[in-house]
Amino acid sequence: MEKIGPLPSLAPGETLYSWGAKTHALWGWSARQTSLALFGTLRTSHSHAIPPGLTYLARATADALGPSRALLAERTVLAAYLPFVAAEKRWQIEQAFLDGQASRARMLLGMRSTKTNVTHAPRYCETCAQEDRSELGYSRWLVKHQLPGSWLCRVHQRPLSFAVGPLSWALPFRVGSSTFSISDGDLQAASRCAMVADELLKLKQVNVHALRQALLKRLSVRGLAPNPDRLNAESLHRAFKATSMSTLLPATEPGACWWESPAWIHKSLSSHHPSQPIKWIALWSWLHDDVEPEICARAFFLAATETRENAASAQMELWDASARPGSVESTARVCDAMACSRTLEEVHARLGVGRRVLIRWMQEVPALSQRWTVRKLEFRGQLALATVDAYLREHPGAWKKDVKNACTADIRWLERHDTVALAELLRRIPATRSPQQHLVMDPPS
Ligand SMILES: [Zn+2]
Repeated sequence: MEKIGPLPSLAPGETLYSWGAKTHALWGWSARQTSLALFGTLRTSHSHAIPPGLTYLARATADALGPSRALLAERTVLAAYLPFVAAEKRWQIEQAFLDGQASRARMLLGMRSTKTNVTHAPRYCETCAQEDRSELGYSRWLVKHQLPGSWLCRVHQRPLSFAVGPLSWALPFRVGSSTFSISDGDLQAASRCAMVADELLKLKQVNVHALRQALLKRLSVRGLAPNPDRLNAESLHRAFKATSMSTLLPATEPGACWWESPAWIHKSLSSHHPSQPIKWIALWSWLHDDVEPEICARAFFLAATETRENAASAQMELWDASARPGSVESTARVCDAMACSRTLEEVHARLGVGRRVLIRWMQEVPALSQRWTVRKLEFRGQLALATVDAYLREHPGAWKKDVKNACTADIRWLERHDTVALAELLRRIPATRSPQQHLVMDPPS
């Protein structure tokens, strides 16, 4: 066993590779020396996804980082893969990784090779990394950014950057990088995927059967597959091609090409084998693109944690529109009612529930109260614009200050919340007038 230097602690959320890179920077040794001392193999300096040689690491560090299996499950990209594996198979896969049989373990998991470019290059958020550098003195590779489906930093709502070129125990900023080019139109879809991917970090086990059932139900609700027992691969793929999700995948997963095959949706939904997490995340985000990202992610968690025993009742809860708050359907229904109402009375009248029930739903599902706040702002904006517009129609010769005097509250509101629409309205007031009119309408004091 090689001699080792002082060991830093694992920072919250950082990957095991990130810890290794930090240790490497601290020791100031060559990449070769660090790799051999920590992992007993030279391959680790670039194996950021799942560093091989964890059994060696445990011995070399006298278990300073905690149990090796916990490191694998929580500090590597396996965090996204293991929940999809049946409990009895998981031990075997973990053992293969611990023993350094990475290719076999990857094959068991259906994981792609880590050497395939962007798809598996380590990722970071430039703003997060800069904040880390000023607060901690170093940047980190965070587990949540390495998960499949994570192409956007949810904290800063910016596309992640990914490393280009050899790593050799590099931390973010110490390696060549590029940034995912996600169009503005696809940011929402990317945000949904990142939120769903984040849910995986809370899960020990995913109920793949329940996920599949929930997605089939969703296809039927959206009129994409009236009969879930007879799915049409071509028409599913056509429907998918018309969405943001289908432009997002080529921009973020250029190394992969599974999304090009018309059969992938059909296969994922009809096969009894779990497919790669990225496919579940893409399908889930696509079929929930009509609800708030928070609801989309929560619904994923609920379906993924559904137990066999309560499957039937949970399905009822999740899908029956008249059932409990928090379900995708009931939330969408409340949001629809809000979109065409001006007061809460109108909302609960439309829904056919009492005011108290509606208030309780809004307290239990934060997305609903947020939606109502937005709706009230929209309505206030529409009212302000309508008032100013009516005044200008009735007083075609009015001056700007006349409008401000007559519609003070509305102008103030628009100045605070919608300067663009206000400027548009005020452009209707002529900028210059003839001197006579000026003298008559607005005599100098
Ligand atoms: Zn960030």
